[in-house]
Amino acid sequence: MKPGHIPSLYAHFPFCESKCHYCDFYSLGREKTQAGDPATFEKALRAEIERSGHLLAPKLDTIFLGGGTPSMTPPDQMAHALEPLWKFTSVTPQTEWTMEANPSSVNLESLREYRRQGVNRISMGVQALRDDLLLKLGRVHSRDAALQSLETIFESGFDNVSVDLLCGVPGQSIETLEEALARLTAFPITHLSCYLLTLPKTHRMFRDLPDEDEQLSHLLLIDRWMREQGFIHYEISNFAKPGRQARHNLTYWKGGSYLGIGPSAHSFDSEFEPTVKSESGHGKRWKNFSPLHKYASELAAGREAIEWTEVLTSAQTDLERWMLALRLDEGFPEEWLKSSGQKSRAAALEKEGLLEAHPERMAYKRLTARGFALSDQMIASLSG
Ligand code: SF4
Repeated sequence: MKPGHIPSLYAHFPFCESKCHYCDFYSLGREKTQAGDPATFEKALRAEIERSGHLLAPKLDTIFLGGGTPSMTPPDQMAHALEPLWKFTSVTPQTEWTMEANPSSVNLESLREYRRQGVNRISMGVQALRDDLLLKLGRVHSRDAALQSLETIFESGFDNVSVDLLCGVPGQSIETLEEALARLTAFPITHLSCYLLTLPKTHRMFRDLPDEDEQLSHLLLIDRWMREQGFIHYEISNFAKPGRQARHNLTYWKGGSYLGIGPSAHSFDSEFEPTVKSESGHGKRWKNFSPLHKYASELAAGREAIEWTEVLTSAQTDLERWMLALRLDEGFPEEWLKSSGQKSRAAALEKEGLLEAHPERMAYKRLTARGFALSDQMIASLSG
Protein backbone atom coordinates (compact mmCIF):
# COMPACT_ATOMS: atom_id res chain seq x y z
CA MET A 1 0.00 0.00 0.00
CA LYS A 2 1.22 3.54 -0.86
CA PRO A 3 2.10 5.41 2.35
CA GLY A 4 -0.17 8.27 3.37
CA HIS A 5 0.85 11.91 3.48
CA ILE A 6 -0.98 13.46 6.45
CA PRO A 7 1.58 14.35 9.13
CA SER A 8 -0.71 15.47 11.97
CA LEU A 9 -3.22 13.49 13.98
CA TYR A 10 -6.00 14.72 16.25
CA ALA A 11 -7.88 12.23 18.46
CA HIS A 12 -11.04 13.33 20.29
CA PHE A 13 -11.72 11.75 23.69
CA PRO A 14 -15.30 12.75 24.51
CA PHE A 15 -15.55 12.18 28.27
CA CYS A 16 -15.41 14.87 30.97
CA GLU A 17 -15.94 14.98 34.71
CA SER A 18 -18.83 17.35 34.23
CA LYS A 19 -20.03 19.62 31.45
CA CYS A 20 -18.69 23.17 31.87
CA HIS A 21 -21.34 25.87 31.48
CA TYR A 22 -19.66 27.56 28.49
CA CYS A 23 -18.47 24.50 26.58
CA ASP A 24 -19.50 23.90 22.98
CA PHE A 25 -17.16 21.00 22.26
CA TYR A 26 -18.70 17.58 21.92
CA SER A 27 -18.21 16.12 25.39
CA LEU A 28 -20.17 14.00 27.83
CA GLY A 29 -20.09 14.76 31.53
CA ARG A 30 -20.36 11.84 33.95
CA GLU A 31 -24.11 12.45 34.25
CA LYS A 32 -24.50 11.73 30.52
CA THR A 33 -22.04 8.82 30.36
CA GLN A 34 -23.35 5.25 30.51
CA ALA A 35 -21.35 2.42 32.03
CA GLY A 36 -20.35 0.87 28.69
CA ASP A 37 -19.52 4.11 26.87
CA PRO A 38 -15.73 4.16 27.40
CA ALA A 39 -15.46 0.61 26.02
CA THR A 40 -17.74 1.49 23.07
CA PHE A 41 -15.57 4.52 22.34
CA GLU A 42 -12.33 2.57 22.55
CA LYS A 43 -13.59 -0.12 20.17
CA ALA A 44 -14.90 2.47 17.70
CA LEU A 45 -11.68 4.49 17.78
CA ARG A 46 -9.67 1.37 17.02
CA ALA A 47 -12.02 0.54 14.13
CA GLU A 48 -11.70 4.07 12.75
CA ILE A 49 -7.91 3.88 12.87
CA GLU A 50 -8.05 0.59 10.96
CA ARG A 51 -10.15 2.34 8.27
CA SER A 52 -8.32 5.64 7.93
CA GLY A 53 -4.82 5.08 9.36
CA HIS A 54 -3.47 4.59 5.82
CA LEU A 55 -3.89 8.35 5.25
CA LEU A 56 -1.17 9.11 7.80
CA ALA A 57 2.44 9.79 6.86
CA PRO A 58 4.92 7.10 7.97
CA LYS A 59 6.32 9.53 10.59
CA LEU A 60 4.04 11.88 12.46
CA ASP A 61 5.01 15.49 13.02
CA THR A 62 2.32 16.14 15.64
CA ILE A 63 -0.30 14.29 17.67
CA PHE A 64 -2.94 16.07 19.72
CA LEU A 65 -5.15 14.13 22.12
CA GLY A 66 -8.02 16.51 22.85
CA GLY A 67 -11.59 16.42 23.91
CA GLY A 68 -13.26 16.20 26.23
CA THR A 69 -10.70 15.28 28.81
CA PRO A 70 -8.28 12.64 27.50
CA SER A 71 -6.49 12.50 30.85
CA MET A 72 -9.63 10.76 32.21
CA THR A 73 -8.68 7.75 30.09
CA PRO A 74 -6.21 5.65 32.10
CA PRO A 75 -2.81 5.19 30.38
CA ASP A 76 -3.30 1.48 29.63
CA GLN A 77 -6.67 2.12 27.99
CA MET A 78 -5.18 5.04 26.08
CA ALA A 79 -2.39 2.81 24.78
CA HIS A 80 -4.91 0.14 23.76
CA ALA A 81 -7.18 2.64 21.99
CA LEU A 82 -4.30 4.05 19.92
CA GLU A 83 -2.44 0.80 19.35
CA PRO A 84 -3.67 0.14 15.74
CA LEU A 85 -1.99 3.42 14.72
CA TRP A 86 1.47 1.90 14.88
CA LYS A 87 0.68 -0.38 11.94
CA PHE A 88 0.45 2.70 9.74
CA THR A 89 2.69 5.33 11.26
CA SER A 90 5.26 6.06 13.94
CA VAL A 91 6.60 8.83 16.14
CA THR A 92 10.14 10.18 16.28
CA PRO A 93 11.95 12.12 19.04
CA GLN A 94 10.88 15.28 17.15
CA THR A 95 7.16 14.48 17.17
CA GLU A 96 5.18 16.96 19.25
CA TRP A 97 2.68 14.82 21.16
CA THR A 98 0.23 16.84 23.23
CA MET A 99 -2.41 15.62 25.64
CA GLU A 100 -5.09 17.85 27.13
CA ALA A 101 -5.61 17.45 30.85
CA ASN A 102 -7.75 18.91 33.58
CA PRO A 103 -6.70 19.48 37.20
CA SER A 104 -9.17 16.94 38.58
CA SER A 105 -7.90 14.10 36.42
CA VAL A 106 -4.12 14.02 36.73
CA ASN A 107 -1.86 12.22 39.17
CA LEU A 108 1.87 11.65 39.29
CA GLU A 109 1.75 7.98 38.39
CA SER A 110 -0.50 8.31 35.33
CA LEU A 111 1.41 11.36 34.07
CA ARG A 112 4.67 9.39 34.22
CA GLU A 113 3.00 6.59 32.30
CA TYR A 114 1.66 8.90 29.55
CA ARG A 115 5.23 10.21 29.22
CA ARG A 116 6.57 6.70 28.87
CA GLN A 117 4.07 6.16 26.06
CA GLY A 118 5.40 9.18 24.16
CA VAL A 119 3.30 12.15 25.27
CA ASN A 120 5.75 15.07 25.59
CA ARG A 121 3.49 18.11 25.94
CA ILE A 122 0.58 18.78 28.30
CA SER A 123 -2.13 21.33 27.69
CA MET A 124 -3.77 22.01 31.05
CA GLY A 125 -7.24 23.55 31.34
CA VAL A 126 -6.99 25.98 34.25
CA GLN A 127 -9.37 28.69 32.90
CA ALA A 128 -9.39 30.84 36.07
CA LEU A 129 -7.73 31.01 39.47
CA ARG A 130 -10.56 32.23 41.65
CA ASP A 131 -12.96 29.73 43.13
CA ASP A 132 -16.06 31.89 42.53
CA LEU A 133 -15.19 32.27 38.82
CA LEU A 134 -14.48 28.55 38.50
CA LEU A 135 -17.87 27.80 40.03
CA LYS A 136 -19.57 30.25 37.68
CA LEU A 137 -17.90 28.56 34.70
CA GLY A 138 -19.01 25.12 35.89
CA ARG A 139 -15.46 23.89 36.41
CA VAL A 140 -15.13 21.00 38.85
CA HIS A 141 -11.73 22.01 40.25
CA SER A 142 -10.61 24.69 42.69
CA ARG A 143 -7.76 27.19 42.44
CA ASP A 144 -5.68 25.04 44.79
CA ALA A 145 -6.30 21.92 42.71
CA ALA A 146 -5.22 23.75 39.54
CA LEU A 147 -1.97 24.94 41.12
CA GLN A 148 -1.31 21.53 42.65
CA SER A 149 -1.85 19.81 39.32
CA LEU A 150 0.72 22.09 37.66
CA GLU A 151 3.22 21.15 40.41
CA THR A 152 2.50 17.49 39.68
CA ILE A 153 2.93 17.89 35.93
CA PHE A 154 6.40 19.42 36.33
CA GLU A 155 7.31 16.86 39.00
CA SER A 156 6.43 14.05 36.58
CA GLY A 157 9.06 15.37 34.15
CA PHE A 158 7.09 17.27 31.50
CA ASP A 159 8.95 20.37 30.39
CA ASN A 160 6.64 21.54 27.61
CA VAL A 161 3.45 22.66 29.33
CA SER A 162 0.68 24.90 28.05
CA VAL A 163 -2.06 26.41 30.18
CA ASP A 164 -5.55 27.46 29.04
CA LEU A 165 -7.01 30.56 30.63
CA LEU A 166 -10.23 32.47 29.96
CA CYS A 167 -10.65 36.23 29.97
CA GLY A 168 -13.77 38.35 29.72
CA VAL A 169 -15.46 36.20 32.38
CA PRO A 170 -18.30 37.98 34.23
CA GLY A 171 -16.91 39.21 37.55
CA GLN A 172 -13.27 38.87 36.46
CA SER A 173 -11.44 42.15 37.10
CA ILE A 174 -8.15 43.28 35.61
CA GLU A 175 -6.54 42.66 39.01
CA THR A 176 -7.91 39.09 39.12
CA LEU A 177 -6.56 38.42 35.66
CA GLU A 178 -3.18 39.91 36.50
CA GLU A 179 -2.92 37.79 39.64
CA ALA A 180 -3.73 34.64 37.63
CA LEU A 181 -1.10 35.51 35.00
CA ALA A 182 1.50 36.18 37.71
CA ARG A 183 0.75 32.90 39.46
CA LEU A 184 0.80 30.86 36.25
CA THR A 185 3.95 32.39 34.79
CA ALA A 186 5.74 31.69 38.08
CA PHE A 187 5.70 28.07 36.82
CA PRO A 188 8.10 27.24 33.96
CA ILE A 189 5.20 27.01 31.48
CA THR A 190 6.18 27.28 27.82
CA HIS A 191 2.84 28.31 26.36
CA LEU A 192 -0.41 30.04 27.28
CA SER A 193 -3.70 30.01 25.39
CA CYS A 194 -6.02 32.73 26.56
CA TYR A 195 -9.45 32.88 24.96
CA LEU A 196 -12.11 35.51 25.40
CA LEU A 197 -15.24 33.91 26.84
CA THR A 198 -17.92 33.96 24.16
CA LEU A 199 -21.46 32.74 24.73
CA PRO A 200 -24.58 32.48 22.56
CA LYS A 201 -27.18 35.22 23.10
CA THR A 202 -29.52 32.65 24.64
CA HIS A 203 -27.02 31.72 27.38
CA ARG A 204 -28.05 32.76 30.88
CA MET A 205 -24.65 34.42 31.47
CA PHE A 206 -24.67 36.31 28.16
CA ARG A 207 -25.93 39.62 29.57
CA ASP A 208 -23.28 39.52 32.32
CA LEU A 209 -20.39 39.46 29.84
CA PRO A 210 -18.16 42.55 30.07
CA ASP A 211 -18.59 45.23 27.38
CA GLU A 212 -16.19 45.57 24.45
CA ASP A 213 -13.95 48.14 26.17
CA GLU A 214 -13.46 45.88 29.16
CA GLN A 215 -12.82 42.88 26.93
CA LEU A 216 -10.23 44.93 25.05
CA SER A 217 -8.54 45.94 28.32
CA HIS A 218 -8.30 42.25 29.30
CA LEU A 219 -6.75 41.33 25.96
CA LEU A 220 -4.25 44.19 26.03
CA LEU A 221 -3.22 43.37 29.60
CA ILE A 222 -2.51 39.75 28.63
CA ASP A 223 -0.50 40.85 25.61
CA ARG A 224 1.61 43.24 27.71
CA TRP A 225 2.07 40.81 30.60
CA MET A 226 3.08 37.85 28.50
CA ARG A 227 5.51 39.81 26.32
CA GLU A 228 7.17 41.14 29.47
CA GLN A 229 7.64 37.54 30.61
CA GLY A 230 9.48 36.67 27.39
CA PHE A 231 6.58 35.05 25.51
CA ILE A 232 5.89 35.67 21.83
CA HIS A 233 2.32 36.66 21.00
CA TYR A 234 2.35 34.46 17.92
CA GLU A 235 -1.37 33.98 17.37
CA ILE A 236 -4.45 35.99 18.37
CA SER A 237 -4.99 33.99 21.58
CA ASN A 238 -1.68 32.17 21.97
CA PHE A 239 1.66 32.99 23.54
CA ALA A 240 4.80 30.87 23.52
CA LYS A 241 8.36 30.94 24.73
CA PRO A 242 10.68 31.10 21.66
CA GLY A 243 10.63 27.77 19.84
CA ARG A 244 7.66 26.48 21.85
CA GLN A 245 4.84 27.52 19.53
CA ALA A 246 2.21 24.76 19.31
CA ARG A 247 3.20 22.99 16.11
CA HIS A 248 -0.06 21.06 15.95
CA ASN A 249 -2.17 24.21 16.08
CA LEU A 250 0.12 25.91 13.57
CA THR A 251 -0.80 23.09 11.18
CA TYR A 252 -4.45 24.22 11.45
CA TRP A 253 -3.58 27.90 11.18
CA LYS A 254 -1.32 27.46 8.18
CA GLY A 255 -3.75 25.33 6.20
CA GLY A 256 -1.80 22.06 6.64
CA SER A 257 -3.32 18.59 6.50
CA TYR A 258 -4.49 16.74 9.59
CA LEU A 259 -6.51 13.62 10.27
CA GLY A 260 -9.10 13.84 13.05
CA ILE A 261 -10.40 10.66 14.66
CA GLY A 262 -13.08 10.20 17.30
CA PRO A 263 -16.61 11.60 17.56
CA SER A 264 -17.02 15.15 16.17
CA ALA A 265 -13.41 15.29 14.92
CA HIS A 266 -12.64 17.36 11.81
CA SER A 267 -10.03 16.50 9.17
CA PHE A 268 -8.44 18.46 6.36
CA ASP A 269 -6.48 17.23 3.37
CA SER A 270 -4.77 20.19 1.70
CA GLU A 271 -3.47 18.00 -1.13
CA PHE A 272 -6.88 16.74 -2.20
CA GLU A 273 -7.48 17.20 -5.91
CA PRO A 274 -11.07 17.01 -7.13
CA THR A 275 -11.88 14.62 -9.93
CA VAL A 276 -14.93 16.63 -11.02
CA LYS A 277 -13.71 19.58 -13.16
CA SER A 278 -16.35 22.01 -11.94
CA GLU A 279 -14.99 21.71 -8.42
CA SER A 280 -12.26 24.31 -8.20
CA GLY A 281 -11.24 23.03 -4.80
CA HIS A 282 -7.98 23.43 -3.00
CA GLY A 283 -8.48 20.84 -0.32
CA LYS A 284 -11.11 18.70 1.33
CA ARG A 285 -12.54 18.94 4.80
CA TRP A 286 -14.69 16.37 6.57
CA LYS A 287 -16.28 15.88 9.98
CA ASN A 288 -17.21 12.81 11.96
CA PHE A 289 -20.60 12.28 13.55
CA SER A 290 -20.70 13.79 17.02
CA PRO A 291 -23.03 11.58 19.10
CA LEU A 292 -20.88 8.76 20.43
CA HIS A 293 -23.45 6.07 19.66
CA LYS A 294 -24.00 7.21 16.07
CA TYR A 295 -20.22 7.42 15.55
CA ALA A 296 -19.69 3.97 17.04
CA SER A 297 -22.63 2.27 15.29
CA GLU A 298 -21.49 3.44 11.84
CA LEU A 299 -18.04 1.97 12.44
CA ALA A 300 -19.49 -1.22 13.92
CA ALA A 301 -21.54 -1.63 10.72
CA GLY A 302 -18.35 -1.36 8.65
CA ARG A 303 -19.07 2.18 7.41
CA GLU A 304 -17.18 5.43 7.76
CA ALA A 305 -18.34 7.66 10.61
CA ILE A 306 -18.27 10.78 8.43
CA GLU A 307 -21.20 13.20 8.78
CA TRP A 308 -20.21 15.59 5.97
CA THR A 309 -17.47 16.31 3.48
CA GLU A 310 -16.78 19.52 1.58
CA VAL A 311 -14.37 20.44 -1.16
CA LEU A 312 -13.25 24.03 -0.74
CA THR A 313 -14.11 26.50 -3.49
CA SER A 314 -11.64 29.18 -4.60
CA ALA A 315 -13.62 31.83 -2.70
CA GLN A 316 -13.48 29.76 0.50
CA THR A 317 -9.77 29.17 0.03
CA ASP A 318 -9.20 32.90 -0.40
CA LEU A 319 -11.17 33.85 2.70
CA GLU A 320 -9.47 31.15 4.75
CA ARG A 321 -6.07 32.33 3.56
CA TRP A 322 -6.89 35.78 4.96
CA MET A 323 -8.35 34.44 8.19
CA LEU A 324 -5.33 32.26 8.80
CA ALA A 325 -2.73 34.89 7.88
CA LEU A 326 -4.33 37.53 10.10
CA ARG A 327 -4.34 35.19 13.09
CA LEU A 328 -0.57 34.88 13.11
CA ASP A 329 2.15 37.38 13.94
CA GLU A 330 3.87 36.35 10.69
CA GLY A 331 1.28 38.51 8.90
CA PHE A 332 0.64 38.64 5.15
CA PRO A 333 2.57 39.88 2.09
CA GLU A 334 1.59 43.36 0.90
CA GLU A 335 0.97 41.98 -2.58
CA TRP A 336 -2.24 40.40 -1.23
CA LEU A 337 -3.73 43.89 -1.09
CA LYS A 338 -4.91 43.89 -4.70
CA SER A 339 -7.95 46.14 -5.07
CA SER A 340 -7.84 49.86 -4.39
CA GLY A 341 -10.54 49.29 -1.74
CA GLN A 342 -8.32 46.82 0.12
CA LYS A 343 -5.36 49.19 -0.08
CA SER A 344 -7.24 52.16 1.28
CA ARG A 345 -8.84 50.09 4.07
CA ALA A 346 -5.39 48.79 5.02
CA ALA A 347 -4.05 52.37 5.09
CA ALA A 348 -6.93 53.43 7.35
CA LEU A 349 -6.27 50.52 9.71
CA GLU A 350 -2.59 51.47 9.88
CA LYS A 351 -3.57 55.02 10.80
CA GLU A 352 -5.76 53.67 13.60
CA GLY A 353 -2.86 51.60 14.97
CA LEU A 354 -4.53 48.26 14.15
CA LEU A 355 -2.19 47.18 11.34
CA GLU A 356 1.55 47.74 10.97
CA ALA A 357 4.49 47.04 8.68
CA HIS A 358 6.07 43.80 9.91
CA PRO A 359 9.19 44.72 11.88
CA GLU A 360 11.19 41.73 10.63
CA ARG A 361 9.64 40.69 7.30
CA MET A 362 10.16 42.90 4.27
CA ALA A 363 6.94 43.89 2.48
CA TYR A 364 4.74 42.14 5.04
CA LYS A 365 2.03 43.58 7.24
CA ARG A 366 0.60 42.22 10.46
CA LEU A 367 -2.01 43.11 13.05
CA THR A 368 -0.90 45.03 16.14
CA ALA A 369 -1.95 43.87 19.64
CA ARG A 370 -5.08 46.06 19.32
CA GLY A 371 -5.69 44.62 15.86
CA PHE A 372 -5.46 41.06 17.27
CA ALA A 373 -8.08 42.00 19.85
CA LEU A 374 -10.41 43.19 17.07
CA SER A 375 -9.43 40.51 14.56
CA ASP A 376 -12.95 39.61 13.39
CA GLN A 377 -13.45 43.15 12.11
CA MET A 378 -9.98 43.15 10.55
CA ILE A 379 -10.65 39.96 8.60
CA ALA A 380 -13.97 41.27 7.29
CA SER A 381 -12.33 44.54 6.29
CA LEU A 382 -9.25 43.23 4.47
CA SER A 383 -10.42 40.02 2.84
CA GLY A 384 -13.02 41.54 0.51
S1 SF4 B 1 -13.45 20.16 30.52
FE1 SF4 B 1 -13.20 21.15 28.49
S2 SF4 B 1 -14.21 19.78 27.03
FE2 SF4 B 1 -14.88 19.17 29.09
S3 SF4 B 1 -16.82 20.24 29.37
FE3 SF4 B 1 -15.19 21.54 30.27
S4 SF4 B 1 -14.57 22.92 28.59
FE4 SF4 B 1 -15.75 21.24 27.67
